[in-house]
Amino acid sequence: MFERVFDVDPSAGEAELRAQVEKLEQLKSAAAAAQARATALWAARRRAAEVAAGVPAKKRGKGLTSEIALARSDAPVCGNTHLGMARALVHEMPHTLSALECGALSEWRATLIVRESACLSVEDRGRLDAELCADVSKLDGWGNNRIEAEARKITARLDAAAVVARSARAPKDRCVTIRPAPDTMAYVTALLPVAQGVAVFASLTRAADTTVDERSRSQVMADTFTERVTGRPAEQPVPVSLNLVLADTTLLGDDEAPGWCDGYGPVPAAVVRALVSDAVADEAAKATLRRLYRHPSSGQLVAMESKARRFPKGLAEFIGIRDRTCRTPYCNAPIRHRDHAVPHHRGGPTSAVNGLGDCEACNYAKEARDWTVTTTDDGGHHRAEFRTPTGATYRSTAPPLPGPPIRTRSVMEDGLGIDVVRFSAA
Ligand SMILES: [Zn+2]
Repeated sequence: MFERVFDVDPSAGEAELRAQVEKLEQLKSAAAAAQARATALWAARRRAAEVAAGVPAKKRGKGLTSEIALARSDAPVCGNTHLGMARALVHEMPHTLSALECGALSEWRATLIVRESACLSVEDRGRLDAELCADVSKLDGWGNNRIEAEARKITARLDAAAVVARSARAPKDRCVTIRPAPDTMAYVTALLPVAQGVAVFASLTRAADTTVDERSRSQVMADTFTERVTGRPAEQPVPVSLNLVLADTTLLGDDEAPGWCDGYGPVPAAVVRALVSDAVADEAAKATLRRLYRHPSSGQLVAMESKARRFPKGLAEFIGIRDRTCRTPYCNAPIRHRDHAVPHHRGGPTSAVNGLGDCEACNYAKEARDWTVTTTDDGGHHRAEFRTPTGATYRSTAPPLPGPPIRTRSVMEDGLGIDVVRFSAA
């Protein structure tokens, strides 16, 4: 599927290589413009086909944004942005599109212009498009910030009320997210209305101003943040549910294979052991141990089955531990649903093999017309194949469980122990 398109001449001189780097940069912009044209046309074709097939207006276009994202090897959640950007460029912003086509704008800078002008009417957007991009020589030397600022300035001049209305709608997007940082640290990010954001930061700064001990200001602010959110001192073990998956040998200190922390990722063995022993020592946190089994050759969890239509709790938990994140290729969103790959009403069993962990958006997308998902478990490798309405196929395989490489293990006959440790508040 992937092949090398361009070659670099190993004997080329510096000026030639610089020219090639420039040319390739232009090609990336031109490719982005062509991709936008193809995307907008694809959406129009799909719409025409659905109208012809009598698909009700409310159901049209279902799943298409996921198909677009998959075609770009991107997370399905980004498909909506790609389609919106393509439609805006092709139907509303011809000058921005030609600036992208000739390499005067990068894809990101075109995205900034589209984003900043999104609250305008089609007519005003056309005015901004002409003012900013009709003369591409003006864009020469403008960085991301300049582009964004100019687009914002024109937008505000053309329709100040729309900008105000957009700010009024923005708080609905407030959220808190987590992503891993190096060395077993994590970033917790809150997107807040400006007044609340400033208030949170000011409150933490005040705590730092009034605390004098051996900790740095940054450390006091971080500890205060943890204390106020969890309601417990920062140095105490985590009281709320924290799912860890680890091999029993790691727990006992026989090997140094990393464990897996739900919502974070791999955690070094020593840190896993410290988390477990803290939780066991802490009366308020209830630590429970449950044993599942790994397949001897693949390291994946061994299958379970149920007669019920809904996935029973144990099986649902099993699928969650096996899949870790949404199983759609390129989607790394947290799992919200345990879903039948082959739907229950078409005879799909409620089993580990036919079960998939999905995020909300992907669960919805794969129920669209002409999507099929098939799953196999071959020697403990759980694979899912997604076939989209245009006949493209995309695959994902469940990740192997934490633990040492199986060939080094001595006990093979009774399955290999995996301990699931869950800490929950009393
Ligand atoms: Zn997903």
